Amino acid sequence: MFKKILIANRGEIACRVIKTCKKMGIKTVAVYSDADRNASHVEMADEAVHIGESATAKSYLVIDRIVEACKKTGAEAVHPGYGFLSENKKFQEALAAAKIAFIGPDAYAIEAMGDKIESKKLADKAGVSTVPGFLGVIKDVAHAKKISGEIGYPVMLKASAGGGGKGMRIARNESEVQEGFERSQSEAKSSFGDDRMFIEKYIEQPRHIEIQIIADRHGNTLYLNERECSIQRRHQKVIEEAPSPFLDEKTRKAMGEQAVALAKAVDYVSAGTVEFIVDTKRNFYFLEMNTRLQVEHPVTELITGLDLVELMIRVAYNEKLPIKQSDVKINGWAIEARVYAEDPYRNFLPSTGRLTRYIAPKETANVRVDTGVYEGGEISVFYDPMIAKLCSYGKDRAEATAHMRAALDAYYIRGVSHNIPFLASVLGKKRFESGELSTNFIAEEYPQGFSDKDLPAEDSSKLLAVAALVHNTYARRAASISGQIPGHGRKVPSAWVIVTKDGDKTVETPVSVAADEGANGTVTIGKKTVDVITDWVPGQPLFTAVIDKKPVTIQVDRKGTGYRLFSAGAQMDVHVYTQREAELARLMPNKPPPDLSKYLLSPMPGLLVSLAVKEGQDVKAGEPLAIVEAMKMENVLKAERDATVKKIHEKAGASLAVDQMILEFG
Ligand code: ADP
Ligand code: ADP
Ligand code: MG
Repeated sequence: MFKKILIANRGEIACRVIKTCKKMGIKTVAVYSDADRNASHVEMADEAVHIGESATAKSYLVIDRIVEACKKTGAEAVHPGYGFLSENKKFQEALAAAKIAFIGPDAYAIEAMGDKIESKKLADKAGVSTVPGFLGVIKDVAHAKKISGEIGYPVMLKASAGGGGKGMRIARNESEVQEGFERSQSEAKSSFGDDRMFIEKYIEQPRHIEIQIIADRHGNTLYLNERECSIQRRHQKVIEEAPSPFLDEKTRKAMGEQAVALAKAVDYVSAGTVEFIVDTKRNFYFLEMNTRLQVEHPVTELITGLDLVELMIRVAYNEKLPIKQSDVKINGWAIEARVYAEDPYRNFLPSTGRLTRYIAPKETANVRVDTGVYEGGEISVFYDPMIAKLCSYGKDRAEATAHMRAALDAYYIRGVSHNIPFLASVLGKKRFESGELSTNFIAEEYPQGFSDKDLPAEDSSKLLAVAALVHNTYARRAASISGQIPGHGRKVPSAWVIVTKDGDKTVETPVSVAADEGANGTVTIGKKTVDVITDWVPGQPLFTAVIDKKPVTIQVDRKGTGYRLFSAGAQMDVHVYTQREAELARLMPNKPPPDLSKYLLSPMPGLLVSLAVKEGQDVKAGEPLAIVEAMKMENVLKAERDATVKKIHEKAGASLAVDQMILEFG
């Protein structure tokens, strides 16, 4: 076996590959940029080599530096992870020239599958079902209209070199072809330096279902079942699961066998994924093949019990696959949620900064966390803002969903914005539960974008009870440590008034608490009693408990004189007062918070590069308003709804603090 492997990647995927190497007794070499000096993957590896500046073009994408790092450390093989150089032919050639093994497919397969028109032709020849359409390059708009008419609307205009959902557009009629074709073409030109376009039928209510395959150099190619990745935002996956709730055994087998046929047609070795689009009648059509380990591979590992990275390493060392097709089983259900540093309440704007507090859910037989971050570490602007891939496993879909929801509740992240409220909301949707998925899920379930209203309705008595017990515990502790004679401490009352807000309204809820020495006890709210069993102690951010016989985790932050509680993505601010305090609080002037939706605030500290609008101008939702540069990256701030610009507060060139007002809508 290889003695030493270099991982040409960073973040969670580098950590994930290192884990398997350790298990196999293989030494590891990490590479890192300036920004990643203290990163987890560097910490985990046996050795680490600095390969350049923070920008990827000056470090992780520099082929020579990585080859040099291999030579310097004596690494015999390279695992590329995903992204970066994983599908780069020149990288493979450079490694081959230096006699270093590449843990992935051969250059020919990568090239053959790298182009959508060519791979579709190949698939067609191998007997794989492809999306009906025109298998050639579209010359111009007139040609596009003619072909679209022949295929029949709606159609999908696609860039042959496309990836990451770019250069792709639906057209439902001739005028949309007119509008969309040139825009997609120029997007393709600027993103991929290649403007070849093709057109295929748009499959309505589509599901994205992909087949994982693995192949060795001894003629064995297996399919490891499917993953359903229909929950997408802008053609990017958000939640994936295995198996698919939609496939039957017959369709699974047919898709698997076609995926294997395609892999064999290009002499594929290593792990790869054949993506299909599936219509409501379970007709499936080939989309593309990804010639690398995929982000969402853990769900396949959880249901098959296989380690895909280990298999990749073994076949790269020329070993035979240790399993046959008949050994590949589906055992249970797995779900993956991609946890990102982004603000779901602000149109998913990427968030960067330091993780001031970071507690990941405990890994168990039912929870897996693939991550590359740590408390105190930074989410930098240079790389993908993924914090972790959170996976859950259960005997069936309902159980996997329950574990995922519990794990999301226990995921404690402070310092950067994150999408956990959004993920919790998706997992809480009836439609998710029913498995009625399609790639339109998010667009249809969140027609106005995501907001607090999309969060699952929580039983507020649970949160009120926790707030009362937490406060009661703090109050008792305060009463017992103020230097009084034992037994003569201040009395802590059992009756409290909990004050919450409902919009602008203040709501008072009287409660009474009967608790033991800890926070165990019963809270009476009106006629209702809530029983809480917990080992929570003051200072812990997670209140893990059994409430009315159900296990729950509620996040509790102290905020000023009150508390902020989080559960199932939702948050609630509360104050817990004595009767007297409540009376006094009533006398306090009630200052309504400013309506922030009227302002464009800078989401990050940075430089205001330019403004795209003038005072008095009407803007439509989605239109660009301003560009803010932070750490060499330009962020376009867009209108979240239709509005009129009333006043502009900052000029281009201004340096902005986070939440500084840039302009005001009328
Ligand atoms: P797909 O290939 O179907 O779009 P994936 O979710 O596996 O699905 O990957 C999305 C794309 O983004 C891939 O091309 C992958 O290479 C790239 N990518 C994802 N995460 C990273 C990352 N951390 N660094 C660089 N590239 C990434
Ligand atoms: P990329 O290389 O950007 O991943 P894909 O061809 O894999 O491009 O398509 C990405 C996503 O776009 C798919 O997961 C699917 O949601 C959607 N899509 C692509 N082609 C079609 C089609 N013909 N009909 C319906 N949806 C499609
Ligand atoms: Mg794809």
